[in-house]
Amino acid sequence: ASEEGSATALANPNIALVKYWGKRDEALILPWTGSLSLTLDAAPTTTTVRLTDAHDDVVLLGGQPLEGTARSRVTRFIDLVRALAGRDERVAVDSHNEIPTGAGLASSASGFAALALAASTAFGLDLDRRALSRLARRGSGSASRSIFDGIAVWHAGHDDESSFAEAVPAPGLELGMVLTVLDARAKSVSSRDGMRRTVDTSPYYPAWVERTPVELEEMLAAIARADFTAVGTIAERNAMRMHATMLGAEPPVRYWGPASVELLDLVANLRGDGLECYATMDAGPNVKILCRADAVDELATRILEAQPDIGVIPARAGRGARLITSEPGGS
Ligand code: ATP
Repeated sequence: ASEEGSATALANPNIALVKYWGKRDEALILPWTGSLSLTLDAAPTTTTVRLTDAHDDVVLLGGQPLEGTARSRVTRFIDLVRALAGRDERVAVDSHNEIPTGAGLASSASGFAALALAASTAFGLDLDRRALSRLARRGSGSASRSIFDGIAVWHAGHDDESSFAEAVPAPGLELGMVLTVLDARAKSVSSRDGMRRTVDTSPYYPAWVERTPVELEEMLAAIARADFTAVGTIAERNAMRMHATMLGAEPPVRYWGPASVELLDLVANLRGDGLECYATMDAGPNVKILCRADAVDELATRILEAQPDIGVIPARAGRGARLITSEPGGS
């Protein structure tokens, strides 16, 4: 018999400036290339994991029981934690996303970062940040980066041990971001499926694998010299190149629509007007706009002037995953 263990963790989404797109090992979630992101200070996931005597795991997201693949994605992840801890209790998971789920707004990143911290703590594990990043990676690759404050680089690595994220110090570089919510509905092609199709069928994918490490080095150098213009330019170009690989897939994968393109034009116009900002897009239509931290409010205002009907989420660099409460279970 075991004492009750429970933990509540909070994690923020992160938006990649050098994208993760494509796995070379789907079971371990090892990526073909390294990536780099900004963890935000907005729209966190809060997840509580409690050990129970029940005969099955219960998983709630936003108060509703998860079913099918969404549920098994969580229970298989919990199986990993059980194996790490050498324990076999069932759990009750209760998670809330502030960001819309599955709309390319990084809910899986904040979701699995929070779950990794809450579940490992509830099972009595005390993982260091690197081990936590590796664990979170097994739930969703991008979750490996939401463990860390601010800018994080995920080293592609070559096995489970070597594929982890870590913080990138960025003295003098104060980044901000405005997330636009054009469509909060879950996408029809999951990131997982979109990636797989791109890797398997796009003739442009090998170019992505060859080129991304170079762009990652350029990005790290730009961050080290606090060169916002270079950071933004590399980020925007990298996002367009990722989407280009998808357009080459069979059938093509296209997550953006007309409203996204209008925002790309708006970003170019604002930049022309002297408000320095850069666009990035993920697996969904919602454009994210990078700016200097002190320009976030003005940028949000200008976006809403041009597009009064859309949602905006203003953000700056935020903290990595952290515990809110914990009562680790002893066995
Ligand atoms: P990304 O920006 O990385 O594409 P996303 O959330 O838009 O993230 P997916 O990678 O397709 O899209 O992941 C969405 C899936 O992640 C959801 O359908 C759900 O299964 C899972 N998920 C999201 N939030 C949580 C959470 N808090 N707890 C557990 N699973 C979650």
